[in-house]
Amino acid sequence: MTQSQVDRLLHPDEARKIVFSHVEALEPESVPLDQAGDRFLVDDFVADVSLPPFPAATMDGYAVIHDDSSNPREVLGSGFAGDATSVTVTPGTAAKIMTGAPVPDGADAVVQVENTKMVDGQVEIHQSDVRAGSNIRQIGADLREGDLLIEAGTRLGPAEIGLLASLGQAKVLVGRRPRVVIYSTGNELVDPAEVPGAGQIRDSNRFSLEVAARRAGAQIVRVGHIADEEDDVREALTSALADADVVITSGGVSMGDKDLIKLILGELSEVHFRRLFMKPGKPMTFATTVGDTGDKKLLFGLPGNPVSCLVCFHLFVRPALQVMQSTEPDSFPTVQVSLEHDIETSDRIEYQRAVVSVGRNGMLQARTTGSQMSARLMSFIGSNAFLIVPPSNDYYPAGETLDAILVEPPGPADL
Ligand code: AMP
Ligand code: MG
Repeated sequence: MTQSQVDRLLHPDEARKIVFSHVEALEPESVPLDQAGDRFLVDDFVADVSLPPFPAATMDGYAVIHDDSSNPREVLGSGFAGDATSVTVTPGTAAKIMTGAPVPDGADAVVQVENTKMVDGQVEIHQSDVRAGSNIRQIGADLREGDLLIEAGTRLGPAEIGLLASLGQAKVLVGRRPRVVIYSTGNELVDPAEVPGAGQIRDSNRFSLEVAARRAGAQIVRVGHIADEEDDVREALTSALADADVVITSGGVSMGDKDLIKLILGELSEVHFRRLFMKPGKPMTFATTVGDTGDKKLLFGLPGNPVSCLVCFHLFVRPALQVMQSTEPDSFPTVQVSLEHDIETSDRIEYQRAVVSVGRNGMLQARTTGSQMSARLMSFIGSNAFLIVPPSNDYYPAGETLDAILVEPPGPADL
């Protein structure tokens, strides 16, 4: 790619396409079921049996023949959950049965114990219309052999894990979690425990990126800070590339004299873009290289401003991490929202932090979180969406409909 192509001011949608064209699912791994929660299923999961595999009682009571008119009836024995059936119910008899136990041969209904009475060792049925099949879960009532139960790419939650357990999947093939190294850069940065001296600030990106990457399923290999020194940056990035599938840095990608990430990424990898037609996040670098064993490595040089850094993470890094784990890039829905107030626009596509809520009319509405300056991390606090504001010379008035990427579910509006 020529220098001018790399330096072109790219539309974020085009940039996402470029990122996705370089991202592949990592080699999947088989993990024990108790470690598969929140991982992504690699293959469609199809039932190889029907459940329940036998007709089972859904109530404690008596297994009977529904249209048997004899009363009282001889009791044939007890069936507990976990028992194999041994008796056969015939007219004039009933078998005591507990919830979950197999319904014995001959019986076609279960009468719940509350509707019966034991008299001299025999059972009286006090229910006039016992219907065939009542209180019985028939074979396949839960699921049938051949049913598609869980689609490939699904994040495995409690119900999915339970289903896999019910069907005997002691191990599950899931996407591998990408190994990620995170570095913040900048001589001005100090640790949160330190008191910043003149001109210094506390490092926030290193911490916010770590949480964001973990939430996106990454395995964090290392998190650190690099000074703005050429040799330090070269050394840190070289070792990061040796250990990680994805290297995320913050800072050092704009036009300043000390913006070394841009320079060193150009040396160590193939840079695909470094300028975006968006706000915040104009200076963002995406590069790839190939590791010793032929595996592709991704490098995201995110901008240093804390808001730009996180917006770029959400738009580019998170989706890439998802694809690497064998699922779709976008788990966040894009929804249409009505503006609660006028919105200022800029000459670039803007991703404004916003609160999307359900209005009185049941429609989604959005308000922004105040000043949208790219250093103001407070603009993220309480927000649940990115309002996508297309560039314009004008403003968008209250009531106008725009798109928003919903990163958390909408709550009710403040009434
Ligand atoms: P840079 O992209 O390195 O020019 O940084 C842009 C702005 O973001 C500067 O004001 C930096 O001080 C600030 N910044 C860079 N990295 C961090 C960080 N890790 N935490 C907080 N602020 C940062
Ligand atoms: Mg810097």
